Amino acid sequence: MRLMCALCVLAAAIVSMSPYAAAERPMGLQAATDATEPFRVIGNIYFVGGEYGSYLITTPEGHLLHDTGSAAMHDLIVSNIKKLGFDVRDIKIMLSSHAHWDHVEGHAAMKRLTGAQVVALGGDAVALESGRDNSAIGARSFESVSVDRVIEDGDRVTLGGMTLRAFWTGGHTQGATMWMTTVQEGGNTYSVAFRGGEIPNAGAPLFNNPRHPTVVADTQRTLQRLKDLEAPDLFLHNHPQNLGRALNRALPVNSRCVFCLDADAWREMVKRAEASFQTMLREAKEAQGR
Ligand SMILES: [Zn+2]
Repeated sequence: MRLMCALCVLAAAIVSMSPYAAAERPMGLQAATDATEPFRVIGNIYFVGGEYGSYLITTPEGHLLHDTGSAAMHDLIVSNIKKLGFDVRDIKIMLSSHAHWDHVEGHAAMKRLTGAQVVALGGDAVALESGRDNSAIGARSFESVSVDRVIEDGDRVTLGGMTLRAFWTGGHTQGATMWMTTVQEGGNTYSVAFRGGEIPNAGAPLFNNPRHPTVVADTQRTLQRLKDLEAPDLFLHNHPQNLGRALNRALPVNSRCVFCLDADAWREMVKRAEASFQTMLREAKEAQGR
């Protein structure tokens, strides 16, 4: 019964936070995957849980943590990192996909525990420091956290031989960021991207939105840039749902990563996001009588 209930909550969360309209959710979407157990995804990238995925990127000089998820995920992430044989206090840098509570609510507690440096882009840094969601949808607030480094599009973060590049995907939030890097696996190099966010949440006001006045232009720029970008070999989702799509068999990725996308699936996702946004924009214009 408890499990059933947890699945209901997770399914509801996935649907509510998904940038896609209900009819456009990926085919084969399952209510939940076992998002509680950590595992190595590829190279030095590990999935460390939970309901809203968090990833650990390890290096000999300390680690980076991508997203802390909700506050409720904190203990699971900490125990999962330990289970993998790493020390949570070795986390030096915290990155995020975007400043919505389900990805950054745990930042403050994780920073208290590790003293890690928080890195965020533009408007997302403002949201983190205020604890208020300044995205178009204006979701719930979260515990504020000080940002140690405010970055811009294209900036790089380096630690222990790893370099991650910020690719601004403003629209879902003001400073949504797709972090891009490369990893080694089996003697080959693979490009890996951590999802930032593509388009605003369904229902977000697109016009005259005081929280994010440039949401339409930012989203259009993001979609164009994503279409122009060379597809990453591997795309790591920030909602660990079963995306119902088998990965390119040539990719040496842990088969438990049912929320990974290969290059073809990533291109399809971008196309779907663009189609969803065009529908949202048309409906918003109609509602405004434009
Ligand atoms: Zn979001």
